[in-house]
Amino acid sequence: NETINKIAAGEVIESPKSIVKELVENSIDAKADEIIVEIKNGGKSLVRISDNGKGINKDEVEDAFRRHCTSKIESSDDLNSLFTLGFRGEALASIAAVAHVEVITRTANDDYGIKMSIEGGEIKLKEDVGCPVGTTITVTELFYNVPARKKFLKSDASESGGVNEVVVSLALSKQNISFKYVNNGSVAFRTPKTTNLLNTISSLYDKDLYNSLLKVEYEENNIKINGYTTNLNYYRGNRKQQVVFVNDRFIKHKRINYFIEAAYNTLLPKNKYPACFLKIEIDPWLVDVNVHPAKTEVRFQNEEFILNEVKRAIYKSLNSKSI
Ligand code: ADP
Ligand code: MG
Repeated sequence: NETINKIAAGEVIESPKSIVKELVENSIDAKADEIIVEIKNGGKSLVRISDNGKGINKDEVEDAFRRHCTSKIESSDDLNSLFTLGFRGEALASIAAVAHVEVITRTANDDYGIKMSIEGGEIKLKEDVGCPVGTTITVTELFYNVPARKKFLKSDASESGGVNEVVVSLALSKQNISFKYVNNGSVAFRTPKTTNLLNTISSLYDKDLYNSLLKVEYEENNIKINGYTTNLNYYRGNRKQQVVFVNDRFIKHKRINYFIEAAYNTLLPKNKYPACFLKIEIDPWLVDVNVHPAKTEVRFQNEEFILNEVKRAIYKSLNSKSI
């Protein structure tokens, strides 16, 4: 079954960014409101997620690392809502199958916590420790036992770019949680606990971007589009600062980017792109649910219509006064 674990792990764990995504989602599920994400060498040598969530009970720590062990399904309704948050009881087992993992955790009911380390799915150490309430999971030696997959890891810069995107998108969608992101020992950003998207944006990006934001507020034809887009004074050489959520899920969709840019017409220099932070709300039936829940791709039922609404929303903002 070590083989089964490794194969299944391939489904869930492709790169450092998928580890970060799964672990942070666990922290969110555990009701944490402070999450620290730390990586080294693009996550290849270290990924560490610390949270102040409810922690794992001593007698449940081992189970948490078994396949299909989840504490989160209580009814079939639950199963439905969980689907959007990804896998059920797979992540920790999958990560432990392809890396070295150390967990330190404590619940509020206990005076001291527990530290456990796992290598190749086997428990190497389990002992009591003093620690705050919450959970810290450290992942090292990624893919040490899956050379084929290790070989396909990209450069440190490229992998850390992927992690950065995941943390930024989570920070932008969960504004009530403070995220701190540490890359190779230096703090890349720290977001506040806030109810205002602008506060989050200002903690993630530079002043130039912040000072060029225009409000996007659009509601028509059963589609709601809210957020910010930049004015004509701001542009970048890539699209990394175009962040789009559909029904609270971070997505990537090239044609949405093209339609956003189309609203700017030819007013930006060639090969320059605006920044934007858009939350699109549409009838869930118009979004294809068959697309893998852990992926960022999405398909729309009536794509042209939705894309044109996005373009109109941006166009409307560009013709409004700045915030
Ligand atoms: P799932 O999230 O689908 O339940 P995982 O493999 O991601 O499966 O996690 C297994 C279990 O471990 C969770 O159901 C939860 O009980 C526990 N767990 C994992 N991470 C944390 C965390 N950061 N805080 C508290 N409990 C956690
Ligand atoms: Mg999980």
